[in-house]
Amino acid sequence: MIATTPLEAWIREKARIGPGLVARLFAEALQDYQLRLVNETIAYARRHTPFYGRHLASLPATPLVSLSDMGRIPFTNPLDLADHPFGFLAVPQADVARVVTLRTSGSTGKAKRLFFTEEDLELTVDFFHRGMSTLVRPGQRVMVLLPGELAGSVGDLLVRGLARMDVHALAYGPVRDPLHAAHAIASFGASCLVGIPTQALAVARSRAGAAIGKGRIESVLLSTDYVPGSLVEALEKVWDCRVFNHYGMTEMGLGGGVECEALDGYHLREADLYFEVVDHQTGEACPDGVMGEVVFTTLTRRGMPLIRYKTGDMARTIPQPCPCGTSLRRMERVKGRWEGAVSLGPETTLTLSDMDEALFRLPGLLDYRAAISKGREGRVWLNIDAHKEEGDGLTEREVLAMLFTVDAIRIAIALDALEMPTVRFSTDGCWITTGVSKRKIVFTADPAA
Ligand SMILES: [Zn+2]
Repeated sequence: MIATTPLEAWIREKARIGPGLVARLFAEALQDYQLRLVNETIAYARRHTPFYGRHLASLPATPLVSLSDMGRIPFTNPLDLADHPFGFLAVPQADVARVVTLRTSGSTGKAKRLFFTEEDLELTVDFFHRGMSTLVRPGQRVMVLLPGELAGSVGDLLVRGLARMDVHALAYGPVRDPLHAAHAIASFGASCLVGIPTQALAVARSRAGAAIGKGRIESVLLSTDYVPGSLVEALEKVWDCRVFNHYGMTEMGLGGGVECEALDGYHLREADLYFEVVDHQTGEACPDGVMGEVVFTTLTRRGMPLIRYKTGDMARTIPQPCPCGTSLRRMERVKGRWEGAVSLGPETTLTLSDMDEALFRLPGLLDYRAAISKGREGRVWLNIDAHKEEGDGLTEREVLAMLFTVDAIRIAIALDALEMPTVRFSTDGCWITTGVSKRKIVFTADPAA
């Protein structure tokens, strides 16, 4: 029996939608609520932020009459944030409780700044509280392998949210040493972990992580980056646990959506955020079930409202109803990022997520980095820096064999567009992703450097 996502009851409360409505009427009531808050957000942002005052200057002052009119509103791009650090701030600086600085991936090295008021942070704590009730129950212990030292950081807000349901959580921080993290998990007695996908995998596949044994870890929530299916399977295999995906980014106020017990796509934080999926090239709305870019609008944020913010994430909605019985929408697990895919020729695009699906099937692989550079005679050169535990028998040949299961790689080699990939191993773990930045294919002048 699959329990209905707790997000439904939470969203009904927040949007003041009675419990008795049938699915169709519930969907309509939620859309009415979202439309009202989208209009309020637009009016608020125009009045209180210099950026939207200019950006939306040509938009008529009359409110939208339908969410299908969202297409008339221009997108907000991540670079807009970097270019106008204070242009999005809608409150006096004294009301800002937390500032998060994010480096952009562009070559300019500009940073994005995100501002949150105390009320904004409370919205996130509330979401974490209700969302986490999908996978933990009162009395359990949760180890949070995310940054948590600072007040208002993701780990801190999660610990606060969990305390509201009598769950004791510890913000351990990102994993720097899988062995140390595994020991900390065991001694804390955690039965639920929250962490970054590749870091959770590195812990599970370390000897100390595997020694935690099957059945002790009941659930794992993966967050901050997209999650390869092969990685989920690997975690399930080591710990015999349920693996939930959380979708979120700092710009969303950290939380965006979380899977229910059906483990098949996220239910979204629809009382606080309005989500769209649009064609990555044209910006037109994608029909249900068609892959596009995720775009969101904040509905309840005071410090820094964002309108039609382009996430760069690739996903699609799932038209079929969820087995958990909710009438909320579902979004398929994010497939990766539009940015950073490497074209190796017509119809041959290499993505990190395709490589992830293949490589994380190798039991000895803890993590890896893929680097691309210019090869000979116009060819592309791909190098894999693979990380394994000292003494593990994983070979270069096995990694290469798995790489050849990736269509883009096989085709590009056959078409002479890609050099034979190279593989290097390390065992010290020093380059395991320690931050919360999203992984991507790295471009280097020389991958062997
Ligand atoms: Zn569901």
